[in-house]
Amino acid sequence: MTQPPPVVEVRALLEALGVPAERFTGGDLESRSPIDGALIGTVASNTRGDVAEAVEAAHDAFVAWRSIPAPRRGELVRLFGEELRRAKAELGRLVAIETGKIVSEGLGEVQEMIDVCDFAVGLSRQLYGLTIASERPEHRMMEIWRPLGVVGIISAFNFPVAVWAWNAALALVCGNAVVWKPSEKTPLTALAVQALFETAAARVPEAPRKLSQIIVGSAEIGEALVDNPLVPLVSATGSTAMGRAVGARLARRFARALLELGGNNAAIVCPTADIDLTLRAVAFSAMGTAGQRCTTLRRLFVHDAVYNELIPRLKVAYTNVAIGDPRHEATLIGPLIDGDAFQAMQEALDEARALGWPVHGGARVPGVAGGFYVRPALVEASAQSGPMIRETFAPILYVVRFSELDAAIELNNAVAQGLSSSIFTNDLREAELFLSERGSDCGIANVNIGSSGAEIGGAFGGEKETGGGRESGSDSWKAYMRRATNTVNYGRALPLAQGVKFDI
Ligand code: NAD
Repeated sequence: MTQPPPVVEVRALLEALGVPAERFTGGDLESRSPIDGALIGTVASNTRGDVAEAVEAAHDAFVAWRSIPAPRRGELVRLFGEELRRAKAELGRLVAIETGKIVSEGLGEVQEMIDVCDFAVGLSRQLYGLTIASERPEHRMMEIWRPLGVVGIISAFNFPVAVWAWNAALALVCGNAVVWKPSEKTPLTALAVQALFETAAARVPEAPRKLSQIIVGSAEIGEALVDNPLVPLVSATGSTAMGRAVGARLARRFARALLELGGNNAAIVCPTADIDLTLRAVAFSAMGTAGQRCTTLRRLFVHDAVYNELIPRLKVAYTNVAIGDPRHEATLIGPLIDGDAFQAMQEALDEARALGWPVHGGARVPGVAGGFYVRPALVEASAQSGPMIRETFAPILYVVRFSELDAAIELNNAVAQGLSSSIFTNDLREAELFLSERGSDCGIANVNIGSSGAEIGGAFGGEKETGGGRESGSDSWKAYMRRATNTVNYGRALPLAQGVKFDI
């Protein structure tokens, strides 16, 4: 079935999502759908002055919001979750059209937002502190968590709405205000989320206006947010190059950075692996989202004993996988985000060929005119080197053989990034070794699951050049609060700690 031109569909979706037409027409910042490269909206960019104004207004909102009881703050996030449930179909489809990911992944992204809202609502009654034994008589020592202020959120194109929700849902229940700079490649989905948020906020009398705002523009606008002294924390998701710049700027003014940067994720396939399961997990992790997830599987280490069983089947999957308009139900791989991404992919594959490595796939395929559709590439590398040690944000999977698990674990860890990793095995000892301190050095380590597709309940993030930040589940909320240690003396004497005497 042919689909309507993206531009026609986008207008209807944005209107259904409550975004007034003047917000996505007549601006200077162009949004193009990767489906056909056509212009789907133009949004007015903000200036540095607008950023300052937005942050000041957000700070005022924070001053009011921080004193609202946390469970009431949770009520706002609960209502926002309701808006998302109501609008899931439209927003998921808009994500698919603006990023090129398939509709089921667009819907999955919205589901992730709903899930993190639910998580944050529960959290709003669980921002627990501690009581600590004091060494002094008639003293009580405790640790409590207080709101931070305005949280800046910078997000990447590939998860244009979920990453904001991971941060915002937690930041808001923790008593903060948020200012969001979405990717300049995906401003329309951001406008839609903002409209849904405002609908929810209008139902909560205690929610100040300007509690959550967006600022639209390129890196320069992000820098203005990063440099603003009223922003104590910036959560920035994107390339390692971006994180290096943002992290340094924040360090200069001693502000906090929560960095979620590039990955170069690996999986190890052992002799006892369930090959059917491994095949499916590898296919989704490596080819899904056209290789444009931070957790995409990019390196595969396969034991000699199963190489000839797995790799030919994987090649068949690579040859047959359905590529095309991401709105078609049968499509599994949509287009790359743009021509630059295609170029970067071709350069990496040329480097691989120059090293003498056989490259299967990787060529442009006809899809919808104007889009960059590629057949995913499987590269049989003779060693881990060259393009394999960097993140190319495209569907390229480098495959290397191994014979000793220790050597494969060493290769897993021998890159600059440390986001996600997997082992496929039915040998308990191998699985536990991989998860042990001698195993994977990544923030995420899985057994018999691919590297991509995390659940919101766990803390998400990675080590080394991935930036060290943790978002979403577990105790990630602590990043959005400041810790205060309070000691109360309820006696009449003033004993000093460590037995110090100071009698005047
Ligand atoms: P990008 O680095 O080009 O841009 C990300 C965001 O940072 C955009 O909003 C951009 O405008 C902004 N930005 C860029 N330079 C900046 C600067 N100097 N100061 C302030 N803001 C700046 O990334 P992208 O191409 O949109 O996304 C792909 C990258 O993001 C990949 O490397 C991917 O691995 C990474 N990513 C990481 C995670 C994670 O959770 N670890 C999640 C999604 C994407």
